[in-house]
Amino acid sequence: MNAAVEHRHADVTASPSPALRARVIERLAAILPTGSLLYRVEDTRPFECDGLSAFRQLPMAVALPENESQVCEILRTCRELDVPVVARGAGTSLSGGSMPHGSGIVLSLAKFNRILEVDAMARIARVQPGVRNLAVSEAVAPHGLYYAPDPSSQIACSIGGNVAENSGGVHCLKYGLTCHNVLRVRLVTIDGEILEFGSEAPEVPGLDLLSLIIGSEGMLGVVTEVSLRLLPKPELARAVLAYFDAVEPAGDAVAAIIAAGIIPAGMEMMDQKAVRAVEPFVQAGYDLDAQAVLIVESDGTPEEVDEEIARIEAVLRDCGCTAIRVSESEEERLRFWSGRKNAFPAAGRVSPDYYCMDGTIPRRTLGRMLKAIEAMEEKYGLRCMNVFHAGDGNLHPLILFDANEPGQWDRADRFGAEILETCVEYGGTITGEHGVGIEKINSMCVQFSPAEREAFFALKRAFDPQELLNPGKAIPTLARCAEYGRMHVHAGQVRFPELPRF
Ligand SMILES: Cc1cc2nc3c(=O)[nH]c(=O)nc-3n(C[C@H](O)[C@H](O)[C@H](O)COP(=O)(O)OP(=O)(O)OC[C@H]3O[C@@H](n4cnc5c(N)ncnc54)[C@H](O)[C@@H]3O)c2cc1C
Repeated sequence: MNAAVEHRHADVTASPSPALRARVIERLAAILPTGSLLYRVEDTRPFECDGLSAFRQLPMAVALPENESQVCEILRTCRELDVPVVARGAGTSLSGGSMPHGSGIVLSLAKFNRILEVDAMARIARVQPGVRNLAVSEAVAPHGLYYAPDPSSQIACSIGGNVAENSGGVHCLKYGLTCHNVLRVRLVTIDGEILEFGSEAPEVPGLDLLSLIIGSEGMLGVVTEVSLRLLPKPELARAVLAYFDAVEPAGDAVAAIIAAGIIPAGMEMMDQKAVRAVEPFVQAGYDLDAQAVLIVESDGTPEEVDEEIARIEAVLRDCGCTAIRVSESEEERLRFWSGRKNAFPAAGRVSPDYYCMDGTIPRRTLGRMLKAIEAMEEKYGLRCMNVFHAGDGNLHPLILFDANEPGQWDRADRFGAEILETCVEYGGTITGEHGVGIEKINSMCVQFSPAEREAFFALKRAFDPQELLNPGKAIPTLARCAEYGRMHVHAGQVRFPELPRF
């Protein structure tokens, strides 16, 4: 394979020639209504990054189509002019996945914000991709239904972004990730063709291409419609708050609960640094002296919940927890959760900047991993708060740093890379739910062999032969991995030399 030819758009910082820019703007303006194409710097600036603001890049233009035929025409035009396209939902991604390409356009789905149909009998909602995650549950609540995957960003993030990232949340341990709750997607290819994968019927013949699309990070097509599975709202939910005087037994308790055959509705963990940051912020009532806090939720009928909570309490006590509280009201249950749900903003209160990592490990290695992260805090001279989707073995270490202090970002960056590599060493993965994007592209070199990465590219090229959809993200080129290996071994510095810094 000739990497130079095959990956022409891998450099996301490349600038377009003035002639190409003028041509693209002229062609897109002819497709879109007035005001739906942004190309002045002051208008495109709000799109320069996603939730991972360390990586920024202005796009050539931002297109805001209103209907599917405009999406088809935009994509056909970009293919003809050889222009990269980055689809964008709400821009809350934490891996730089929706960061623009310098010589490409952003295709924003912000105007695709309608819930098209709710079939309460079939428990299915058909929605446009720009609909906010929480808006689905709000709209179907009168039918006693809800949409289970609940990222902490659910107030803002879009269903299209959830599909592209295969997003998870607190309740995914029991009810599955986005991939378990999406029945069908409709997407537009770079050729402007409309494809549908999956079905609202129980069985679909043919290859399971729906699974391929979910989690594909905007690299295979632009999703324009999604059918979601809805669930009946459980009659009752109660949360158990358990305190531990060390992190390792808390990690062991997580593994022991699952080993006991219990699948809680949610099982999350915070270390003392996280607890001490969130408590003054939201007053969840956590014990500040506890070294680790575990929140375990049970839902179902009142009888089911009582029985499950008794079993959970028994396992927690066996694992050495120092105290247990069980929510006595819905208000108290929400208060228990408020600390965990606000951990990210709380990090922003105690540190000028924070870097949220996202890796997975086998549950049994949680305690060991926490010890390893403690050693890394010493090594890099930075503090790290730990919050976890513990039941899924999904870590979210929040590395605290100050971007205005020279060298701190580089140390945070290397700290993050070492966490991800340790995840792989322990038998885990470099991402749990935030995607690879630009952030973890080098870590993909650690997780996958050259032959495996080439298989990813072969699939991408089947959908997108010119590699125009979100290029330079998610799959590292052979050349990039070779360079990463060289830097990693000899210097261990700067993971993204070509990317803009603060
Ligand atoms: C405070 C905070 C908490 C978070 N908590 C969680 C959490 O608990 N769980 C979790 O999983 N994530 C979490 N996230 C990450 C983020 O919210 C999710 O990844 C979310 O799914 C992104 O949705 P979005 O609409 O913002 O997508 P964007 O950021 O706009 O895009 C993300 C990716 O999806 C692609 N994309 C977007 N729309 C489409 C489309 N229509 N067709 C094709 N590709 C598309 C983009 O190209 C990009 O690659 C959190 C983020 C923040 C800021």
